[in-house]
Amino acid sequence: MGKDSGIPKLDSIGLDAKQAMLAAIILSTDDTIISKTTKGIITSWNPAAGRMFGFTEEEAVGKHISLIIPEDRLGEETFIIGQVLNGQRVDHFETLRRAKDGRLIPISLTVSPIRNSQGEIIGASKIARDISVHKTAAEKQSVLAAIVDTSDDTIVSKTLDGIITSWNKAAVKMFGYTEAEAIGKHISLIIPPDRLDEEKFIIGEVRQGKKVDHFQTLRRAKNGELVPISLSVSPVIDADGKIIGASKIARDISAEQAAQQQTERLYVQLKELNTKKDEFIGLASHELKTPLTSITGYLQILAQRVTDEKHKMFLQKTQLQVSKLTSLVNDLLDVSKIEAGKLYFAQEDFNIRTVVESAIELIAHANSRHTITLDSSVSDCIVKGDPHRIEQVVINLLTNAIRYSPGKTQVEVYLTCDACEVRVGIKDFGMGIASEKLPHIFSRYYRVDEGSSGVSGLGIGLYLCSEIINRHNGKIWAESELNVGSTFWFSFPVGR
Ligand code: ADP
Repeated sequence: MGKDSGIPKLDSIGLDAKQAMLAAIILSTDDTIISKTTKGIITSWNPAAGRMFGFTEEEAVGKHISLIIPEDRLGEETFIIGQVLNGQRVDHFETLRRAKDGRLIPISLTVSPIRNSQGEIIGASKIARDISVHKTAAEKQSVLAAIVDTSDDTIVSKTLDGIITSWNKAAVKMFGYTEAEAIGKHISLIIPPDRLDEEKFIIGEVRQGKKVDHFQTLRRAKNGELVPISLSVSPVIDADGKIIGASKIARDISAEQAAQQQTERLYVQLKELNTKKDEFIGLASHELKTPLTSITGYLQILAQRVTDEKHKMFLQKTQLQVSKLTSLVNDLLDVSKIEAGKLYFAQEDFNIRTVVESAIELIAHANSRHTITLDSSVSDCIVKGDPHRIEQVVINLLTNAIRYSPGKTQVEVYLTCDACEVRVGIKDFGMGIASEKLPHIFSRYYRVDEGSSGVSGLGIGLYLCSEIINRHNGKIWAESELNVGSTFWFSFPVGR
């Protein structure tokens, strides 16, 4: 152990009570205390040193201090010993030492000279403190600080009185004020005067420990420009849980706002175009209606005068086409009225059976191939609403039942009526509708399998039906199976 090689021995100094107490302190302290000669030979090694480095007193005493110094730090020892030989202390020297298991331990070293009774420097005492906890906290803090500093988001903190306490690089970029210009100033530096009240609200929330999230507002940059931002403000809480300030994260939303404004502009343009289209449809159908009315009138006059059978047949065909054209124009006119909110409804009591029968009669008259049967035990059922509009619905559904069941001959109509509700069903045995298309059929201009059914149309009939039934506070729906047939139902309250 080399105990005779000039190493000062504590017992040779002679222990009085005070020294015994000091020795006891050294033994029991949590700080690592080591002494060594000026040549670096370890002369004492307290239990805390054993715990820190893993070497026992026996393993360490007598060895050179390089036992615990990483190779790349051996130069430090020369410096430390140099200081000690000059009679100087080395204070809080932060470095790394190696434990027995190879682990590097971050420590803070304080090294003082040891003098003998003649005042000569005979060695050095080292007190080492493990600073890993300290270090990780400090490292964490510096990582966080780096994140804040390099963030693309503007991050600003302020006291509860609104005094700016931190200002990151993104804040400099966003508002044009340097860190030195902003820190210590009141946050009103960047708040437009007409928005100062917002600050009161935000601080009020923060004082209650609440966050303010995605608050969209405007702030003023140094050059006077207004910056649209989305603000998130959170309370800053100290170690005792006290709210001591607020941190703000601001995101420049000018690009988002520009995109939103563009979308809004497009939406307005689209709406304008849509209104123009509806107006055009309305106007065109109105203009078509006038000549159609006079054609219909003149055809009726002609019908009374024509005697030749062949001419009569031509006339009937013309009348049929004119009536199809008239109902198309009427439907278009109705659509434009719905869009303009000008589709008016009568409110009168009428017998639903009469209306259904009259619609059947009208359609049956124009279509000789299909037989339309009414299956109902209802004789009189008085309901409130617009009889012409309800008849229009039945006509529409019957027309579809016939058009979409080419090659078939049967259409069935059901009518039930109780104290609350009237229900009408129109069943065909035609092409049916695929289940995934069914939810869309009441939408405006929607047509199933455009063109492939071989039936032409505009896709507005069912839309009109659903509008009319909705205005009667009722429901309209369809049950259908592809290549089997469809049943269209509507119901509405009898009394409205
Ligand atoms: P249109 O018949 O003029 O196309 P509608 O609004 O009356 O417009 O009908 C919308 C679509 O619903 C039609 O294109 C058709 O594909 C489908 N449809 C309506 N009624 C029936 C039916 N009875 N059977 C099969 N398909 C139908």
